[in-house]
Amino acid sequence: MCPMSTIIRCPICGTPIHPDKMEYDHVCIEYGNRRFCFCSESCRKSFLEGPRIAYFSMEIAVANEIPTYSGGLGILAGDVVRSSADLRLRLIALTLVSRKGYLKQRITSKGEQLEYPDEWNPEKSLTLMPKNVKVRIEGRDVIIQAWLYEHQSFTGGLVPVLFLDTDVEGNVTEDRRITDYLYGGDDEYRLKQEIILGIGGIRILKELFFNVRKYHMNEGHSSLLTLQLLRDNDMDNERVRNLCVFTTHTPAEAAFDKFSYSTFQRIYSEDFPLDILKKYASADALDMTELGSNLSKYLNGVSEAHREYSMDHFPGHYIRAITNGVHSYTWTSTPFRELFDRYIPGWANEPIMLGRASQIPNNEIWDAHNKAKMSLFEFVKNKTYFEMDMKALTIGFARRSTAYKRGSLIFNSLERLRRIDSIGKLQLIFAGKAHTKDEDGKRIIKEIHQYMAELGDDVKTVYLENYDMDTAAKLTSGVDIWLNTPLPPFEASGTSGMKAAHNGVINFSVLDGWWVEGCIEGVTGWAIGAPSNMPITPAERRKRELEDIYNKLEYLIIPMFYYKRDDWINIMKNSIGKVAYYFQAQWMMRRYITEAYLL
Ligand SMILES: *Cc1c(COP(=O)(O)O)cnc(C)c1O
Repeated sequence: MCPMSTIIRCPICGTPIHPDKMEYDHVCIEYGNRRFCFCSESCRKSFLEGPRIAYFSMEIAVANEIPTYSGGLGILAGDVVRSSADLRLRLIALTLVSRKGYLKQRITSKGEQLEYPDEWNPEKSLTLMPKNVKVRIEGRDVIIQAWLYEHQSFTGGLVPVLFLDTDVEGNVTEDRRITDYLYGGDDEYRLKQEIILGIGGIRILKELFFNVRKYHMNEGHSSLLTLQLLRDNDMDNERVRNLCVFTTHTPAEAAFDKFSYSTFQRIYSEDFPLDILKKYASADALDMTELGSNLSKYLNGVSEAHREYSMDHFPGHYIRAITNGVHSYTWTSTPFRELFDRYIPGWANEPIMLGRASQIPNNEIWDAHNKAKMSLFEFVKNKTYFEMDMKALTIGFARRSTAYKRGSLIFNSLERLRRIDSIGKLQLIFAGKAHTKDEDGKRIIKEIHQYMAELGDDVKTVYLENYDMDTAAKLTSGVDIWLNTPLPPFEASGTSGMKAAHNGVINFSVLDGWWVEGCIEGVTGWAIGAPSNMPITPAERRKRELEDIYNKLEYLIIPMFYYKRDDWINIMKNSIGKVAYYFQAQWMMRRYITEAYLL
C-alpha cells in the first residue's frame, strides 16, 4: 500500500496537514457527512466555491460493487475520476444511478447467455444531496434527486460523483423507473434518461451551487445539456461553445444516438424552439453527436486512428485526438505494485516514471508475473472448478461481446490451434457480456462454447461469467498474452490492452485504435493483420489477420515463451516501460486540461 495513504492532505493543494494543528488553524469543515481539513482559508474557499470541470457520462465505473457501467466507456469515466483526484483537478462527475445496473450474466453449458438485473442500493453507501430539481416529461414534472459518491486520492485530491435518480416519492411509478436500467428499454426510455442526465444534470449543479468552468460530454448521451446552457446564456451559441468539450468514442455512425423529432416533442414537455434545435442537431433527426459537437469548441476522438477515420467521415468538423489511458494504480496487480514501489518509488502518483521499468531485474519481473498468474488461476478455479496449468502459455480475451470485436476469430482453424498446442502448451481464458438486444454478441458467446466443446482437452479453454472490473483486473494481469481482434476501424481506442501492459502482459492485437500508436513490432508486442487505414478488401484483410494469428503464435510467440525466456521478459519490460508509461489516464487528463479545458 502507498505510504501516503496514512497522511492527511489538503484536498486542494496536497500540503500535509498535521493532526495536532487541525483545530488550531480553524480550517476544518463538515461537508456532506464528512469532515475536511485544509491548509489555509484560501484552499477552503476554493474547495467550496472554486470553478470545476463538470464531466457527464451515461456510465461510470467507480467501484466493482456499483454496477453502473457496461464496458470501456464507463471504465474510462471511472479512470477519469480517479486520475483527476490524483491530480487534484477540480472536477465533478455526473451520471445516472442505474439502480438495476447493466446486467448480471450467467451462461448455460450450451453457451446461452442468461440475464438478470444487477441491483444495488445507493442508500447503503452514498449520501443523498439535500436538494431536488425537476424536468417536464410527457406533461408531468419529474423530480430528480442526486446521490453523492466521493473518490479520494492518496494525494488528498477529492472528486465527487453525482448519481441522478428519479426513484423519488412524488413521481408516478413509470417515472420512478427511468433511472433503473443502464442502456435498457426502448428509444423513448433512452430519451427520457438523456433528458434526466443532460438537462437535469445542469439544473442540479446549479441548485447545489457548483460553479462550473467547462462541461465535458463523454459521448453524446448527455448532449441535451446544451439546451439548458443555451437557455441560461440567452441562446448565445458562441458562449455555449466556449463552455463545452465533446468526446466521441465510436467511429460507427450507427452507434450514434438519434431520435425522431416527433418522439422528442412527445416526450420532452418544456419549451425549446425547434428551429434552433434543428440548426445544431441536424434537420431530419435529433442527432446527439451533431448536437454535442456543434456546440463544443473542443471536439476529440480517442486515438489517432479514430481521429483520422472520423475526420474523413464527419465532414465539417475539426476533430482532435486525445488517446485514452487507464488509471495505473487501479489496474496494476499487487505483485507489480510492490515491485514498482521498490524500483520506481513514486510511480503511482506519476505513472510516466514507469518509463524506467528496464532497470528492474528480469527474475523479479518473472516472479511478480507468476504471482499474478497464480492469483488469476485461483480466481478461475473458484469460479469454474477448472485447474489451469501454470506452465502453459495463457492467452486472455475479454471484452463486451459484440460483432466487431470478433471474439471467436482465433478459433477459425482448430487444426492450427491443435498443432500450435503440440509445439508448446496453450490455454485460453475468455469473458464478456453481450447486450440484451445484441443477437450477434450472444451468438459469438455460443460459438466460443461450441469450439470449447469441440477442442475438449486439446486446448484448455474457459469462459468466465459476468465480466466486471474485478474480473478484468485479474485477467489483464494474470495471462501471458492479451489478445484483441476487432474489425478495423471500429475499435476507436480500446483500453484493456493498456491494463495488460501495466502488468507486463504482452499485447497481440489487430492494428486498430490505441494499438496503432502502442505497437512496435517485436519490441512492445505483436501486430495482427494490416493497419486500419490500409486500403485492402475485407477478404484480404481477414486472410492476413488469420495468417498472423497462427503464424506468429507458432513461429514467434510459442518458441520465445518456452525457449527464450529473457527475450520474452524484455518484451514484458517494454510493455511497462514503453506502453504503460504513456497509455495511462493521468497523462490523458494532463492533455485534457492543457488542450481542452484551458482552450
Ligand atoms: C477495461 C474494461 C473494458 C474495456 O475493454 P476494451 O478492451 O477496451 O474493450 C470493458 N469492460 C470492463 C469490465 C473493463 O474492465
